[in-house]
Amino acid sequence: MDHTERARRFEAVIHAAPDFISIASLDGQVEFVNEPGRALIGMDAATDLSRLKVADFLTADGQAESALNERPAVLKDGQWSGFATLRDWRDGSAIPVAVTSFMVRDVVTDEPIALASIQQDLRPSLGQQHAVAQAESALAESERRHQAFLLHMSDILLVVTATGGLKYASPSATRVLGYPDGWFVDTDLLDLVHPDDRESTRHALADMVSLRTEGPIGLRLRSADATFRSYEALANNLIDDPAVGGILVLVRDVTDRNKTERAERTQAKVLELIAAEAPVSTVLSALALSVEDQLEETICTVLLAERSTEGAVFRHGASPSMPSGYARELEGRSIAGDPSPCGLALRSRTPVLVADIMTDERFATMRELATSCDVRGCWSFPVLSPNSGDLLGTFALYTRDPGLPDDRTTAIVARASRLAAITLERQVLLGRLAYQAHHDDLTGLPNRMTLLARLSDRLLAAEDGTSGPGVVFLDLDRLKIVNDSLGHDVGDELLVRIAGRVADAAPEGAIVARFGGDEFVILVDRLEGADDAGLLVERVLAAVAEPVLLAGRSFTPSASAGVVIAARGQSATEVLRDADIAMYRAKHGGGSRYAFFTDDMRRRAFDRLELEEQVRHGLAAGEFRVFYQPVVDLTDHDALVGFEALLRWQHPTRGLLGPASFIELAEETGLIVDLGEWVLGTVATSAARWSERFPWFRGTLAVNVSGRQLGSPHLLPAVRTAMARMAPWSLGLELTESTLMEDTVSTRGLIEDLVSSGASLAIDDFGTGFSSLSYLTRLPVSTLKIDRSFVLDLDNPGALAVAATVLNLASSLDLTVVAEGIETPAQREALLGLGCRYGQGFLMGRPLPETQALEFLRTSAGEVRRSG
Ligand code: C2E
Ligand code: CA
Ligand code: CA
Repeated sequence: MDHTERARRFEAVIHAAPDFISIASLDGQVEFVNEPGRALIGMDAATDLSRLKVADFLTADGQAESALNERPAVLKDGQWSGFATLRDWRDGSAIPVAVTSFMVRDVVTDEPIALASIQQDLRPSLGQQHAVAQAESALAESERRHQAFLLHMSDILLVVTATGGLKYASPSATRVLGYPDGWFVDTDLLDLVHPDDRESTRHALADMVSLRTEGPIGLRLRSADATFRSYEALANNLIDDPAVGGILVLVRDVTDRNKTERAERTQAKVLELIAAEAPVSTVLSALALSVEDQLEETICTVLLAERSTEGAVFRHGASPSMPSGYARELEGRSIAGDPSPCGLALRSRTPVLVADIMTDERFATMRELATSCDVRGCWSFPVLSPNSGDLLGTFALYTRDPGLPDDRTTAIVARASRLAAITLERQVLLGRLAYQAHHDDLTGLPNRMTLLARLSDRLLAAEDGTSGPGVVFLDLDRLKIVNDSLGHDVGDELLVRIAGRVADAAPEGAIVARFGGDEFVILVDRLEGADDAGLLVERVLAAVAEPVLLAGRSFTPSASAGVVIAARGQSATEVLRDADIAMYRAKHGGGSRYAFFTDDMRRRAFDRLELEEQVRHGLAAGEFRVFYQPVVDLTDHDALVGFEALLRWQHPTRGLLGPASFIELAEETGLIVDLGEWVLGTVATSAARWSERFPWFRGTLAVNVSGRQLGSPHLLPAVRTAMARMAPWSLGLELTESTLMEDTVSTRGLIEDLVSSGASLAIDDFGTGFSSLSYLTRLPVSTLKIDRSFVLDLDNPGALAVAATVLNLASSLDLTVVAEGIETPAQREALLGLGCRYGQGFLMGRPLPETQALEFLRTSAGEVRRSG
């Protein structure tokens, strides 16, 4: 390799080196720059190096400090290392480099011939640059986010000293509280705190320091606009943390939460009022005020929709913040055609939102009212029953300024409307309950309770007057028959019709009440004596007695009435009791008539009360007896066929009493059930004794059974027990026509059971009733007893005809006939002549005590035996 070749190689190596290599003459003239060097500083290849000095490669700053100029040093030490700043030829920017300069010496003479420098670019590589840039921007980004977070967070972060001096306030503090940037510097937290909360805040901070407790502390802070809002502060003592060096306080605005809580509290208050059954107006007012409390600058009203036969009208519900004229204006106004938003809301069943009454043409007629009440916006929400969807009223908000409700307002109103609905529905319900408590469901008339209350009032009012209030006690006849034969619905219909008639016939101002099942009472303020009362009652009874069409049939109702003019000092129950007694008298007289209450009745009423007690006592004390009246076969020389058992009472003071003295009372009071049972037992005992003596005698023992006994569950078992003991005697049961007529449906089954158990059925007092005879075919009747009244009257052609008819009927139906009350041989002959086989009467035998009946039996049974 020759020298030139070698020199080219060296040059190539120098150009291929990664660093900037330059060679300058000893006087600073640049002689050579390798390729990487040119590339680094952006100097193109055409640049003439001969004109350039080393200093031209450096920045202005770089020139001043560059050690490259310090050739003496380099020359002295032979080598120098340091830093320099190269100038980028493209834009003049700086390129920091590490420099190593050294003297190049002649190989032969060792004389310095040039200065060489190797410059290493100190800037990071492109990849390195990128990573740095990324890290930098991430940091910046995070910092920005952090700042944005601190600015926009809804909470405020403070760092305070133990005494409240502010060391740091997050950017959000200026935003939330509305103060300008930098305002918090050198401020004391306590200056911001509401004066009333300062003491507690101070204490809390002191506690933080000594006890390290953490709150939360409730406090109010002053905003820039000088208003106070409520905050909750959570503190954390970080005084010992060098990064913080104070108490970190996180402050949160709880004004809205407090509002919500307050709304919940007022709502709970309203619910409490509802539960306590406070008057509706009180509840609705509380509700309206609570909404006004939540929504500033609004006025709240509640209107009720009341339906009547004349159509729906407004009733004032509540408008605590409206001028009083508002309530007057609305009360009783018809909802149909009402031009207000509330009227429209009710008719459309949807909210009506009027932004400005003054400009909305639909509500032009309301402008005057709006002006007088100083309101512009009106939002009316219909209040509907949550259960039935019925219109209950409206909930309306009026605003001072025009506008429409926002979501929060709508939500608040929705909640309030629901509460209003509950209140109103409850009111409707309570009203209905109150009405039901005071009225009869079926007829809608006031009920017994109401009547008693009203009568008491009238009696008090009459204390000072001259004449007392009058009471007419009406009892509808034969309701039971209608119920049993046509059904209860028809019975109800009859009651409703009668109620209407009585109400129509009653004088103006009178109270007509339904007192019980078929009882009505008319209460008249005053009755001016008997004539006045008589006219009234006759008018009412005539009205009641108009024929009525029931289930397609004509029916003529009738009623019995008792009249009383209240005496001074009487109580309501006493007056009604007297009227009832008089009514009972009238009914007993045959119904469809009336009776005045008299002192005699009162006395008798007292007597009855006493008697009832005596009967009860007498039964327990064994004062009752059974007498036996013989029944004979007229066609067989009056041979004994049996006895009828007749009840007697050995009264301790009044002597032996017949049924006439007590049987009616016993039936009315129900005592007859006990008496009847006792009779059955006694009869069975007698029969058992008799059959011991005369076992071959098979007679019938007839027992009278009252209607009341048919209702008793004891009758059938008592009859069965009795029959089992009295065999071979058989048991006959005597029921009157009217008993059978009254209760055909419900008792038919029982009668069938009694008969299939072995008892025979006789119709007592036959001919005195006016019933259809159809029951004779429906019921298992075996005997008819011709009433004593016909027998007594047999020389009268009418009575004779009845007896003849009964006998004909009986023979065609194959029934046995017993004629009652035969007292004379003529009567006996006449009956025998008409073909009557059996008879009973004083002529043949009176009712006898058991021992004498046995004697009678001995004679007859002996004869039977003799003749048998
Ligand atoms: P009744 O069932 O029609 O009984 C016949 C009544 O006529 C008896 O009256 C009897 O003493 C009376 N009598 C019989 N023969 C003659 C006569 O020739 N001339 C007259 N003047 N009277 C005669 P008594 O015993 O006073 O009974 C009256 C009613 O009391 C009975 O009428 C019956 O309906 C009822 N009764 C009697 N005992 C009982 C009983 O144990 N239970 C029930 N539920 N009712 C009874
Ligand atoms: Ca009888
Ligand atoms: Ca009879």
